[in-house]
Amino acid sequence: MSILYHSTRSQSDSVTSKQAILAGIAPDGGLYVSDAVGQSKLDLSRVCAGSYHDVASMVLGALLGDYTPDEVSWCVSHAYAQNFDTPEVTPVSPLGDDWLLELYHGPTCAFKDVALQMLPRLMSVARKTAGSGRNVMIVTATSGDTGKAALEGFADVEGTGVTVFYPAGKVSDIQRLQMVTQRGSNVAVCGIRGNFDDAQTEVKHIFADRELAQRLAQKNTVLSSANSINVGRLVPQVTYYFYAYARLVAAGAIAQGDAIDFCVPTGNFGDVLAGYYAKRMGLPVGRLIVASNANNVLTDFITTGTYDRRRPFIKTISPSMDILVSSNLERLLYYLSDGDCELVASYMDSLAKDGSYTVSQKILERLHQTFACGFADDDATRATIRQTWEQEHRLIDTHTAVAKTVLDCRPSEGRQRVCLSTASAYKFSADVLAALGVDTQGKGDFQCMDELSQLTSTKAPQQLSSLRDATELHLDVCDRDQMGSFVESACSRVFA
Ligand SMILES: *Cc1c(COP(=O)(O)O)cnc(C)c1O
Repeated sequence: MSILYHSTRSQSDSVTSKQAILAGIAPDGGLYVSDAVGQSKLDLSRVCAGSYHDVASMVLGALLGDYTPDEVSWCVSHAYAQNFDTPEVTPVSPLGDDWLLELYHGPTCAFKDVALQMLPRLMSVARKTAGSGRNVMIVTATSGDTGKAALEGFADVEGTGVTVFYPAGKVSDIQRLQMVTQRGSNVAVCGIRGNFDDAQTEVKHIFADRELAQRLAQKNTVLSSANSINVGRLVPQVTYYFYAYARLVAAGAIAQGDAIDFCVPTGNFGDVLAGYYAKRMGLPVGRLIVASNANNVLTDFITTGTYDRRRPFIKTISPSMDILVSSNLERLLYYLSDGDCELVASYMDSLAKDGSYTVSQKILERLHQTFACGFADDDATRATIRQTWEQEHRLIDTHTAVAKTVLDCRPSEGRQRVCLSTASAYKFSADVLAALGVDTQGKGDFQCMDELSQLTSTKAPQQLSSLRDATELHLDVCDRDQMGSFVESACSRVFA
C-alpha cells in the first residue's frame, strides 16, 4: 500500500515515507503529514495478542507504506533488543488507582530512546532506496538530554554518523559524561563556548550553508537532523499507546473495546500527538490529557484557542518540557482542520510574525472532544514526588510528576487512566532528592544519586551509575565559528 506524505502547509508535493524521514522537514517549512493516518484501523485483537515487537511492526507497517515487511522487521528487532533492559520495552505498572507507562528502560533512561533507537534504522534503510546510498550525517545541538539519546541511537548504524554540540559548562556532570563517554566509530561530540541558543543558532547556519552542502555532496554525504518533528520519531511513539492498551486488557483492568485515558507530560507535543495518531488508527482513547509545567502555553491554548508564545521563558525542574513553541502542534491543527493547509499556514505565519494565533471555533470544539489539559509548577511537582514516594513507594522523575499532578487533580470520568512516565528518577537525582526533603546544597550529581539510592533502597540504573568510571573520549571544545569545520572534519573521518 502506498502512503504518501506532504507538508502541513501545502498539498502540492507528495513524498514517500522514506523521503520524508530523510528530509526531516518539508521544503516550505511545514511538517510532513499523511492523509492515510487512520484510514485503515489496526486490528485490536491482534494488538492485544502481540508482543512489543509485533505491535511495533503493525504500527510501522500501517504508517510507513514503502518499507517492506522485511525492512520493518529488521528495524524493529534492532531498535528494541538488549539495549532496553526489559523485553517488554515499555512495561505498564499499577500506580494507585491509575497506571504508569514506563518509557525509561532504554540506554539513556528517558522516553526519547523509544524513537531515537528506531529513527537511525529507518534512515539507514531509507538511504539505500530513497537517498541514492548517500551517507547521512546527523547534526544536533543539545541542552543536555536529546544529544545523548541521538548518540546512542546512531552509534555504529551503517551509512549514518552523528555530531553533537553542547554548551560547555552549562550541562550537568552526568549529562556531560553521558555524551563525552559515548562509544562508536561514527560519533563526534564537541563542547561550545557559549550557551544552548548559540549552539542551536549555529547549527541552523550550518544547515543553510550551501557551499558546505556542495562540498559534502561531492563526498556523497548529506546533513540531516534528528529533530522531534521527523516522521521517523513520531511513528515509533504510536506503538506504546497500543501496547499499553494491550497490557491493561491482559491485566483484566478493561475489556477489549473499552476506552482509556492517557496523561502525557508535554513539551514539543510529539509524544501526545502520537497518542492522537493511535486514536485515529482505532485505539479506544477517551481523553488525551496534555500536562505542562509553568511554561503553560499549551494549557492556555487548549483552554481558550489562542496560542501565545509572548511570555517569559521559565526554567523549571522539568527542563525537557521548558518549551514555548510546541512544533508538533502544527500536525494536530492540520488534522483538526480536515487538512486545510492554507489555514494551517496562516496560523504558522501569525505565530512567526506576531507570536500568536487563534484557531477557529470549529477547531476548538474538535480539540475539546479529545484533549484536556492542566499544568503544575515546581512546588506542586515536588509535592507529588514526595507524596508518591510516601504513599505508593514509587520514585517518579520531575517530568512524570508534572503529569501525575495534573492527573490527580482531575475526576476519573469512569475510565482507566495511564500516566506516561518519561524518565528515570535517577536522571534528575538532585531535584528528586530535594523533593524528598533532603538538602542538596553543594552536592554533586553522583552524591545525590548515592543518597537517593540509600534513602529509598532503590538502585540507580547501571547506565547512569557506571558513568562515574567511564573513560572520557571526546574532549573537544570550540568556538561557535568553528562548528562548521568541526562538522566537515567529522564527515571526512566517519565516512572515510
Ligand atoms: C522530551 C521530553 C518530554 C516532552 O516530550 P515532547 O514529545 O517534547 O512533548 C517529556 N519528558 C521527558 C523526560 C523528555 O525528555
